[in-house]
Amino acid sequence: MKDTTGARPWNKRTRAVHAGTRRSQYGEVSEAIFLTQGFVYDTAEAAEARFVELGEDEFIYARYGNPTVRMFEERIAALEGAEDAFATASGMAAVNAALVSMLRAGDHVVAARALFGSCLYILEEVLTRYGVEVSFVDGTDLSQWEKAIRPGTKAVFFESISNPTLEVIDIAAVSRLAHAVGALVIVDNVFATPVFQDTLGLGADVVVYSATKHIDGQGRVLGGVILGTRQFIRKTVEPYLKHTGGAMSPFTAWVMLKSLETMELRCRAQAASALAIAEALEGAPGLTRVLFPGLPSHPQHDLAAAQMEAGGTVIAFEVEGGQEAAFRLLNALEIITISNNLGDAKSIITHPATTTHQRLTEDQRQALGITRGLLRLSVGLEDTGDLIADLTAALAAARP
Ligand SMILES: *Cc1c(COP(=O)(O)O)cnc(C)c1O
Repeated sequence: MKDTTGARPWNKRTRAVHAGTRRSQYGEVSEAIFLTQGFVYDTAEAAEARFVELGEDEFIYARYGNPTVRMFEERIAALEGAEDAFATASGMAAVNAALVSMLRAGDHVVAARALFGSCLYILEEVLTRYGVEVSFVDGTDLSQWEKAIRPGTKAVFFESISNPTLEVIDIAAVSRLAHAVGALVIVDNVFATPVFQDTLGLGADVVVYSATKHIDGQGRVLGGVILGTRQFIRKTVEPYLKHTGGAMSPFTAWVMLKSLETMELRCRAQAASALAIAEALEGAPGLTRVLFPGLPSHPQHDLAAAQMEAGGTVIAFEVEGGQEAAFRLLNALEIITISNNLGDAKSIITHPATTTHQRLTEDQRQALGITRGLLRLSVGLEDTGDLIADLTAALAAARP
């Protein structure tokens, strides 16, 4: 038995707590972890029947599906407003499967250039190896999308807010251009989160998350999810994933499922804190740039405000004095930790040029605005005043 909605439609908070819940014969309150790889059949005939067609509460093998994983998929689908979802072992397994499951040699893909490094690897190195042609555009320039999308383009791919410079892409406008030639719009929505943006409502066809980020939100497990129409998830994504082995583990699904109960509260608190911190940082001595979609000074602030309920939980800022000053700032922080996750309850800061984007050439980094003084801050759940005090003291320590 499972809950999806009651007699009246549920609002997001209610869906976050109840959607997808399946209870065993024991009637447990908290969702059970079905830590099992397989499932028994009462008879040989029942086994045969299950391989012909799966019923609602029937499973065969955890690589294909599992009750705890199914609960997570149904809950996140209910939150995102998607017909269906497939959970994966990591965010990258989700990005890879969303693209590879639908593409074949000779297809054409258009993607934004400002991408998470591993996403860029899949588009630039993996897809092209199998005869898929990929064109890269400046995602904020609609005329480049217009020029690159052509009859025969099968998919467009972008991060709705790019990492680490927080460029915002016009989902509705890019979707219109893509749909005019019948291309599928696949959005990596990590930075916007399922809380702040109705990505499918804006026109996207497929939404992909690294659940490692805000969905877990507590830095414990790796995971990912692909959301879309039932047809796309069950007929395109599932056959690919069930035979290639990118499934989420039931234990991870249980962690993620329980995390969804508090995700909205966490993201809203983190976003409110991020806005206050961005406002405090803007104009602070020793900083040359503060990038946050929620600030009116952000180049796409109006688009961000139209597309998203809040500016998100990540801020980028540039320290005067380049890498040396940036490192002094990092080393002077007492609360904010140096690491490379984001969306976590703990505030985390990273120096992209020497870590996440180290593999790029200096020219590529310059083109993406990743200077030596740039830092990316993921705002956590600590007291906002404590975080501002930590940053203010570190900024003072960073000055020569
Ligand atoms: C982290 C991240 C990924 C990859 O997710 P993993 O769970 O680490 O595999 C993909 N895209 C974006 C935008 C990310 O931030």
